[in-house]
Amino acid sequence: MPGIELPVVGPPVPEIPRYTGDIDRDAWGLMRGGLAEEITGGLAYPSKMDCPAWGISATRCRIGAALAKQPGTVCAACYAMKGTFRAKAVADKLERAYRGLFDPRWTPALYALIRWHATDRFRFFHSGDFQGENHFLNIMRICAATRDVLFWIPTREVALVREHADAIPENAVVRISGNVIDGPAPTWWPTTSTVATDPRRATCPSSKKGGNCGTHHCTACWSPQGNVAYLRH
Ligand code: SF4
Repeated sequence: MPGIELPVVGPPVPEIPRYTGDIDRDAWGLMRGGLAEEITGGLAYPSKMDCPAWGISATRCRIGAALAKQPGTVCAACYAMKGTFRAKAVADKLERAYRGLFDPRWTPALYALIRWHATDRFRFFHSGDFQGENHFLNIMRICAATRDVLFWIPTREVALVREHADAIPENAVVRISGNVIDGPAPTWWPTTSTVATDPRRATCPSSKKGGNCGTHHCTACWSPQGNVAYLRH
């Protein structure tokens, strides 16, 4: 019809299955033959980290995709969209990780990898964010089953955190990210992060001086209280 633009309708996104099984029983056997890696896309070891991590492509961030269109936001300048994560091999791995979320074995598979590879700390979302309620609850299930590991989970999915705060176990530090560069930290949640352009306002030594968390003997992002300010790259 001339003069009227119809919205583009893409294929419906399937729902991530909510895991409710016996995680130890279901994890049994998934480490054989690289099955857990195949299902989850495998763990990552970003150079800025001194522990394993897991994430998906930043192009899958639901809130980030909207924020990326607004100048001055952290997402508009997102390193994951334009830096290392754009390398094809890395992008392919992150996309495989995303697709694995729809496998009903995803939760016990990632749990098995974390049990095997993480000693005391783990990071979720070195890239990407929660993909909805079931994804949030599946990750909390993993954290609750792995109490000897501390989890740092940065997110912009504030509605999920507000709605399911009771499901977050004590060893999971969900860190709400501020949206605007040089903006204030969110005040409604105890663990937050911001991005600063002035090195004097940044508190993350790794972002200011290079190296990684281990180099600086810093675990501030896993701390259950306070804001961490990263220097913008
Ligand atoms: S604040 Fe500390 S723990 Fe967080 S990223 Fe920087 S060096 Fe690592």
